[in-house]
Amino acid sequence: MIVIATTVPKVQKWLEDAFAKYAPEDSYCLAQSEAAQYATTAVSWFPDLDYLETLPQLKLIHSMAAGVEHLNLKRIGHRYQVCRVVDQLHQQGMFDYLQWGVLYYQRFFDQAFEQKKQQRWRQYPQRSTTEIKIGIMGLGQMGGYISQRFAALGYQVSGWSRSLKTLENVQCFAGDSDFGAFLSQAEILINLLPLTESNQGILSQDLFGQLPERACVINCGRGQHLVEQDLIDCLDSGRLRGAILDVFNHEPLAIDSALWQHDKILVTPHVASHAPWSIVVEQILENDRRVREGQNLLNLVDPSKGY
Ligand code: NDP
Repeated sequence: MIVIATTVPKVQKWLEDAFAKYAPEDSYCLAQSEAAQYATTAVSWFPDLDYLETLPQLKLIHSMAAGVEHLNLKRIGHRYQVCRVVDQLHQQGMFDYLQWGVLYYQRFFDQAFEQKKQQRWRQYPQRSTTEIKIGIMGLGQMGGYISQRFAALGYQVSGWSRSLKTLENVQCFAGDSDFGAFLSQAEILINLLPLTESNQGILSQDLFGQLPERACVINCGRGQHLVEQDLIDCLDSGRLRGAILDVFNHEPLAIDSALWQHDKILVTPHVASHAPWSIVVEQILENDRRVREGQNLLNLVDPSKGY
């Protein structure tokens, strides 16, 4: 039995609709219902852990998404197993978004929008794919896939992770000691790190200062990775050329946020990629079956690493 357990009303509605559509009626229930006493799995996004800890059969807390920072892994520790969603269509969706972002800067569409406002006719250079240096922070399920897709198109791709990877046609860097070398060549920097205690605020003035002059930043990790004022300062000074932001410290982004107004920042409302609901439900049903039968779970999270 799966219990839908989130403190976010909008997400509660999404999950209820998705389970009603794709799961057998007797396989899930709502938080606070009688049936929740039998729940072995909680599907969650910012769950009420006080409540989950009262459920006697609960063994697995399953993120409804790829990220798990909303689960409070520190508190969960090893009391429950934790899983997340990993899916090929989800990765493909992220690539579509990022490919658009890269082309936006590669082919100077940012400049085209500016010039249109001023009715200004000025031709800009055509830069070929093989000239463009893309740097990807995080080489996991998302970053690993994205790096391979860009490399296959002929871009110069480098990637950075905690442990060193071997990826075809991708220059791989690992750990703090390699970070400067990785950053120094990333003219389009893509963040696909999971949010952990150690990387909050990593997209800061210090990092931006290590990128090539007039680099561009695309943040699809989490809003808490970014020090917003540092980004604004680096854009205003011309040190950075532009930024595309999909994730924010507070979502929805506040109406009075300076990010909305900034000419060099493109805001998207956390839509870079969502896994199809049919897949999310299927993976959670499968992991619930496995946890009940004592089998190994898919897409397990390591609470000691935080992702
Ligand atoms: P994974 O756990 O598969 O990969 C994480 C990667 O980040 C790994 O390569 C890991 O290194 C690296 N990493 C983690 N911490 C550090 C660190 N401190 N220093 C260097 N490298 C680090 O996650 P996914 O690829 O599946 O997803 C990544 C994130 O993308 C999610 O957590 C979520 O925040 C975001 N996301 C955003 C979406 C959106 O729509 N905006 C959609 C989906 C995901 P190592 O391999 O060595 O462990």
